[in-house]
Amino acid sequence: MKHNKLSFFESVTTFFDRAAALTDHPIGLLNQIKYCDSCYWFKFPLRNDDGSIEMIQGFRVEHSHHKLPVKGGTRYSEMVTEDEVKALAALMTYKCAVVDVPFGGAKGGIRIEPRRYTDIQLEKITRRYTVELAKKEFIGPGVDVPAPDYGTSSREMAWMLDTYVTLNPAQLDAAACVTGKPIAQGGVHGRTEATGRGVYFSLVQAMSYTEDMKKLGLTPGVEGKKMVIQGLGNVGYHAAKFLQEAGAVIVAVAEYDGAVYLPKGLDIDAVQEHRRETGTILDFPGAKNLAKNADALECECDVLIPAALEEQITAQNASRIKAKIICEAANGPIMAEAEEILKQKGIMIVPDIYANAGGVTVSYFEWLKNLSHVRFGRMSKRFEESSHKRVLAAVEKITGRSLSDKEWQAAMHGADEADLVDSGLEETMYNAYNDIRETMLTTKNCPDLRTAAFLSAINKIAISYQQLGIFP
Ligand code: NAD
Repeated sequence: MKHNKLSFFESVTTFFDRAAALTDHPIGLLNQIKYCDSCYWFKFPLRNDDGSIEMIQGFRVEHSHHKLPVKGGTRYSEMVTEDEVKALAALMTYKCAVVDVPFGGAKGGIRIEPRRYTDIQLEKITRRYTVELAKKEFIGPGVDVPAPDYGTSSREMAWMLDTYVTLNPAQLDAAACVTGKPIAQGGVHGRTEATGRGVYFSLVQAMSYTEDMKKLGLTPGVEGKKMVIQGLGNVGYHAAKFLQEAGAVIVAVAEYDGAVYLPKGLDIDAVQEHRRETGTILDFPGAKNLAKNADALECECDVLIPAALEEQITAQNASRIKAKIICEAANGPIMAEAEEILKQKGIMIVPDIYANAGGVTVSYFEWLKNLSHVRFGRMSKRFEESSHKRVLAAVEKITGRSLSDKEWQAAMHGADEADLVDSGLEETMYNAYNDIRETMLTTKNCPDLRTAAFLSAINKIAISYQQLGIFP
């Protein structure tokens, strides 16, 4: 049941308007940025094994063509609507601008509950969806590049790629038509975990400022902080895993069918294993089952990480949230009406258009890899290693100390693809945080990180339109 007065897209435009009010851009330019450029919805038939025909509804929304290609995930969920896809496409535009990824925003979706379909049916649906996009040029390396999202993974991206290549056999850069592909199909190391890893970097950076943490009654750093994760899917699992490795204590996890709570901390891999064996996170040994999955949002903790879906924190439950920081790993988990209540409670919000931008950042690296037709590090790794070897030999000679084999191996290592992707992601997430925090602190009447992130995005997109000569 929805409790919001605003739709998801209206909630996003409310955040946009708050930031836009702090600029002096002409209203025409602001409207050009705010609304979706193209919205395509379509239906196609699926023949079931019993011969019956089912109509499947698909969407692709391209929110902003200020940079091409446009980029955004593909969602499979029975809750997909035009409003939802528009909101998610808009968030993609702002997200790309926040992390300086040179794409416009887009999003796609199919209104199905994937758990109700066989793998063969899902493949048929995905391939037909891709054909429908291709017919209207809503997919292609230079126009629109889908990626995985809620309910999809590298498997669906491989099907989309194969369909696109079948339709465009002579296209040299065809592999760049989707990202989030398996490595063997032109994917990049680190894409699967990229969004969760980006969420981890966003919290490390946000929690590194002593003065900001002091205001919340916290010490700096993620180590020892109690955290709650909603949604143990791709983003939630990887965020939890990296945070736990850095010393965070995961006190509760919520899934669609319930939640588990353990104050001394859940071992996230053990919870995942338990889910694989039993089909649910419930009844995890030693942990308490919570009555409703939404109860996890209201647990006592330092950091709440909604990593499932939008519209989770509403005007109805916002006053009961006890976390000191909410890091939006999902897109749009906090509705505009709820945000005011959270702010009055002094809760710090790390906004989605920054916090979950790790996925599109690494998708950008994958797209670059596909266009360059070479693996990152292929030409430099050996060269770096022999340079390091010469320096180490000189150090041994000068100091008279012999390094152990382990020290040699660690110091000699030349960067491979995984190292470079991780380093690029870390650099992007830290720089973007510092940029939006600086914008918040230096802009008159800028109340929070979300407004600062929107403001930074609007200003960058406005420059693009001015460079295109469309607006003065
Ligand atoms: P996913 O399908 O891998 O995982 C989502 C998980 O949430 C599933 O395990 C599902 O069962 C669970 N869930 C659903 N409803 C729930 C509820 N009410 N309470 C608790 N758990 C619930 O999806 P994902 O790729 O991890 O995406 C999650 C969110 O992150 C979405 O908002 C998505 O748009 C956003 N996001 C994803 C990426 C990406 O790279 N995959 C990038 C940026 C943002």
